[in-house]
Amino acid sequence: MGLLDSKVALIFGVANDRSIAWGIAQAFAREGAQIGISYAGEALEKRVRPLAVQIGCNFVEPCDVASDEQIQRIAQKAVERFGKVDILVHAIAFANREELNGPYYNTSRAGFHLAMDISVYSFTALAQAFQPHISAGGALLTLTYYGSEKVAPHYNVMGVAKAALEASVRYLAYDFGRQGVRVNAISAGPIRTLAAAGVAGFKDMYKRYAEIAPLRSNVTIEDVGNAAVFLCSDLASKTTGEVLFVDSGYNILGISEAIE
Ligand code: NAD
Repeated sequence: MGLLDSKVALIFGVANDRSIAWGIAQAFAREGAQIGISYAGEALEKRVRPLAVQIGCNFVEPCDVASDEQIQRIAQKAVERFGKVDILVHAIAFANREELNGPYYNTSRAGFHLAMDISVYSFTALAQAFQPHISAGGALLTLTYYGSEKVAPHYNVMGVAKAALEASVRYLAYDFGRQGVRVNAISAGPIRTLAAAGVAGFKDMYKRYAEIAPLRSNVTIEDVGNAAVFLCSDLASKTTGEVLFVDSGYNILGISEAIE
């Protein structure tokens, strides 16, 4: 018996085998979910298709979340294929590289809009498109980072975006509550992915994190996948609007000890 038996899960944001979305897809498949994967565009197809095969997934569709039309199209295709959707995972973020280096006050207007559109609004847009098709017992999940609450140097506009994303989780949780659908976020510790590589100083921060965090270890996509199973399964049936930290305990620290 898997924890997600008979659930249909649509996962957005697989770019390669390091993606958090891939960790989630593998954990969901292990727990018996039927999976659909969506990726950003043509350039990623050759990486994503072989991964999908590994977990027996044959619904692999492109969707640029900047396009309402493409979002509508994938919602329609998913419903045609599966008849319903129980779980929606949003593991998508984007900001221009130049916004993720140096002072936050240098953020451009266009860069701010882009980061907000792709990293924040897209979750609401997906929720809107899938709302009629998700029934009681369903769950929506997104990915955030502690830079929403505290300053993480160079994270800049993405920290502001994550704060807005977490607020969206609460508003969506309120809206979806009446149809028995839960909306949550996982706040993951740093993981070496394509998106993370765009943040200046990430490598050093990643190394220090494992030295400082209470559990003295970095977080893996498997760790996040397992937490996602919990949040999207019936085990979390009364948890909604929450941000669950999967960060080796880093967020509880007020100050770190000097590293020898
Ligand atoms: P990743 O690069 O593997 O995933 C980011 C995904 O966003 C990619 O699949 C990319 O194709 C997709 N994307 C970007 N623009 C898009 C668009 N217009 N349309 C559709 N898809 C688009 O990196 P990741 O670290 O797995 O990121 C997944 C999520 O996890 C992001 O929200 C990220 O902020 C969050 N997160 C990451 C870390 C970390 O340290 N890696 C920590 C906490 C939270």
